Amino acid sequence: MKSPGKLEKVGPLRPLYEVGNMKEVYEFRVQEKYASRLFEPSAGEKLGWTKQFGDKFVTVRKIELSADDPKFRRVGELNALLQKNRDDFFFAGWNINRCYTASDIAQARLFLLCRIATFEPAGEECGTQYDESAACSSCKSKAKQVSPLFLDWKRIPKSKDIARTIAGEVVVSKRMVELFERHSITGAKFGPVCHRPTTSAESKEWFQLLVKPGYAEVAAPTKMGINPFDEDVTGQYRCSHGDLIGLARLSEVSISRSSYNGSDIIASRQFMGTRRGLLRPERFLLVSPKLRQLIKKEKLTGCEFEVAHFV
Ligand SMILES: [Zn+2]
Repeated sequence: MKSPGKLEKVGPLRPLYEVGNMKEVYEFRVQEKYASRLFEPSAGEKLGWTKQFGDKFVTVRKIELSADDPKFRRVGELNALLQKNRDDFFFAGWNINRCYTASDIAQARLFLLCRIATFEPAGEECGTQYDESAACSSCKSKAKQVSPLFLDWKRIPKSKDIARTIAGEVVVSKRMVELFERHSITGAKFGPVCHRPTTSAESKEWFQLLVKPGYAEVAAPTKMGINPFDEDVTGQYRCSHGDLIGLARLSEVSISRSSYNGSDIIASRQFMGTRRGLLRPERFLLVSPKLRQLIKKEKLTGCEFEVAHFV
């Protein structure tokens, strides 16, 4: 766990909430070959691995910055410049880590379940069937799963209690299901996880997490975009039907209070992501303080939590 460090005033780049000493730290995977344009050789952490991004293999360095660091803006400028002039990029990946005070956590009434451990192959590659005709004609969100979830059991991370495929299919361990049952957690049901290739065998260790309908409405000031410097003003990743709201999440999530049905776990009506290859847009998952506390107390692993807000 990173130290929250010195807490800062909420600035213009931050959402304004009633409660809040939350500190955002932006984490970038900067291409090593360009890192010296902005950073000292000793800055950040050389990850020492090469990863494929699109058709490129790149070596990256992990750099952490707050939004009020003068270098933060330069990261965005360099990225735009490299895209324009070389069809390349300054950073290959990014993340926003949010640190909270104990008081922020104590006062929160809802949490976003996020950064779920991810694995491949996706269900579709293992025989899971979808009815694409049920999906939005424009953004392809909401395709309906019409078969049990087929997965390669060996590829589900054994050390986790919750994990998702790259297509957003979420599975939970037997321990997690038992916790839900023992504490009468509301809002979820569980489906079987069958083994590839298509057989009738159902896992006794893993179950698909299916959140019941009764969706939460994502509301302003939730900010979506392509990356921290690109809020997708042209709406490339937003659907005119209002179901797909963006490629990536740039802020904490806010939910319309009147849309919340009080369940311990609830999904958003809106989707995030894109439909490409095996990738499918996903709903946000939100949980009650009770469920978050139980997962923490029982040391179940595979996800993180952020404070979500009611508006
Ligand atoms: Zn749509």
